[in-house]
Amino acid sequence: MERIAVFPGSFDPITIGHMDIIQRAVPLFDKIIVAIGTNSAKKYMFSLEQRQKFIEKAVERFENVTVQTYDGLTIDFCLNNDARYILRGLRNPADFEFEKAIAHTNRAISNYDVETVFLLTSSGKAYISSSIVRDVMINGGEYKKLVPSSVKYKCETK
Ligand code: ADP
Repeated sequence: MERIAVFPGSFDPITIGHMDIIQRAVPLFDKIIVAIGTNSAKKYMFSLEQRQKFIEKAVERFENVTVQTYDGLTIDFCLNNDARYILRGLRNPADFEFEKAIAHTNRAISNYDVETVFLLTSSGKAYISSSIVRDVMINGGEYKKLVPSSVKYKCETK
């Protein structure tokens, strides 16, 4: 059976922290679906289309990585895509506590057998988060070191 993993997130925008996780997961799975969640209660800086484009360009060199968008429960998205693994990155203890609650909840609410697989961030990338990248962008800072080259802010978004 194919090992399919879903890497869910907001990716607003994708960062080199996310890329680190994806790149290191490439040899571990047959297929990885980067799944951009749409949460209507959340305000995003980049549209769904922009976030998807940024990721598609950034992962095009990986043959087994695709990008999709979804709404609803991650676990239902996994079921619909025959994915038995959820991939998540861990940066710090706060991530761990949060992720632990989500992983346990996913197990509790579903009969479908999905394992959450965690990769620790490579050293030097653990401080990077999409929200900090957004702050840097809004305030005119040098964001390009923090994101893959496909990510463009403002008038350069095309
Ligand atoms: P969410 O809104 O679900 O937290 P994110 O886009 O912020 O979505 O993150 C998606 C996943 O990527 C999460 O598992 C998160 O822990 C992980 N992640 C984010 N930034 C980093 C980073 N710098 N290093 C490793 N993992 C990261």
